[in-house]
Amino acid sequence: MSNCIFCKIIAGEIPSSKVYEDDAVYAFRDINPMAPVHILIVPKVHVASANDVTAENAASVARIFEAIPKIAASEGLVNGYRVITNCGEDGCQSVKHLHFHLLGGKKLPESMA
Ligand code: 5GP
Ligand code: ZN
Repeated sequence: MSNCIFCKIIAGEIPSSKVYEDDAVYAFRDINPMAPVHILIVPKVHVASANDVTAENAASVARIFEAIPKIAASEGLVNGYRVITNCGEDGCQSVKHLHFHLLGGKKLPESMA
């Protein structure tokens, strides 16, 4: 997707603070962190949102969930963490490339909404 900011980050056209990469997954620090650890984990293929996951691209989403424990371990999140994806208007999704927020490094608020 030529006008997608996260596709540009994956391609290295926009700089990012990379924390993990494999053939299917890219992870980098959120520019506006909401917790001591706030990482965005994205599929390298452009998928617009959780609402756009299909049989064809679900494997790349599964690869994200394989990467999460590795990233959490490398960030020292031994006490746990939270994974969130915002979807669409009501979910307040601002970047239309599927991404999972990995939040941790402190006791997070009990309330999610
Ligand atoms: P959303 O609101 O779509 O769930 O989350 C988008 C996230 O992307 C926000 O937390 C925002 O801070 C982050 N973000 C937006 N633009 C950039 C950028 O250019 N670089 C990085 N590292 N994070 C970004
Ligand atoms: Zn994209």
